[in-house]
Amino acid sequence: MRTVQFELMRPGEFLEERERFSVAYLPVGPLEWHGPHMPFGTDPLNAQAVACGVAERIGGVVFPPLFCGTEEARTPKLLNWMGFEDDSQYVVGMDVPSNPIKSCYFPEELFGTILRANLLQIISLGFRIVVIVNGHGAAGQLRTGARLAREFTNTTKSQVLFCRAMQKLDETDDRLGHANIVETSMQMYVSGESVQLDKLPPREIPLKTSEWGIADGYLMTGESVNEGHTVEHDPRDATAELGKRYIENGIERVAKEVLRAYGEK
Ligand SMILES: [Zn+2]
Repeated sequence: MRTVQFELMRPGEFLEERERFSVAYLPVGPLEWHGPHMPFGTDPLNAQAVACGVAERIGGVVFPPLFCGTEEARTPKLLNWMGFEDDSQYVVGMDVPSNPIKSCYFPEELFGTILRANLLQIISLGFRIVVIVNGHGAAGQLRTGARLAREFTNTTKSQVLFCRAMQKLDETDDRLGHANIVETSMQMYVSGESVQLDKLPPREIPLKTSEWGIADGYLMTGESVNEGHTVEHDPRDATAELGKRYIENGIERVAKEVLRAYGEK
C-alpha cells in the first residue's frame, strides 16, 4: 500500500500524489493531561489517525502531527461547573491542581503564530486544499484554527479547511468529552497499549472533574451538570470497538467535507 505520510515519501511519490489528488492534511493538538490512564499526545495522535484514514480512503498527503495547542484560565463559571468551590482559583485548561504534571499548552497568540508558519509552509508546496485536522476542543484553538483557515483561503492559492477529528456519531450523541469514554476509546483503538485503565481508581469511585482533569462535554458547556460534578460517560467503560466507531465517523465526515470542497474548487 502507498504511504500517505509526508515524512516517509520520496519526491517522486509526493509529486505523483499531489498531481493525482492535491490535498494536504495537518493534524493538530496539544501535549495535554488526559488523566492517569492516557498518553499526553492523545489529541494529536487521534487527529493523525483520522487524517491518515481520510488520505487512505480518498487520497492526499498527511503531514506529521503538530504537537501544539492552546488553553486559557477557566472562568469562575467554568470552575463551578468543573466542581471547584473556590471560583477564584487559577486553573488553565485541564490542569487541575491535583495533577502531578502540567500540560504543554501554548498561549493563544503563539499557537496562532506556530500554526500560521506550518500552514504557510504546506501551502507553499502547492496544494489546492490544505486541511487542518484538529484534535483539541478549546475555544481559543477553534477560534484560531477557523480564523487562519478563512484568512489563507482568501489570501493564498490554497483553500484551507478547518475540521474536527472527534465528532458526534449523530445529533443525539452527548458523549464527547475530555479523556472520558469517547476519547479513551479512540486512543485504545489507535494505540491500545498506550491506554491503561487500571491507572484509574476502582469503578465504584466516581471521577470528579476537579480532581482528575477528566470531563464530559456538558461539564464544559454547563448543560446538565450532575450534583457531584463527576464524569458520567466513564473512561472505565471504554473499548477499542467504540473507539473504532468514532475514528471511522471522523474519517467519514472529514472525507465528505474534503470531497465537497474538491469538487467545488
Ligand atoms: Zn483530548
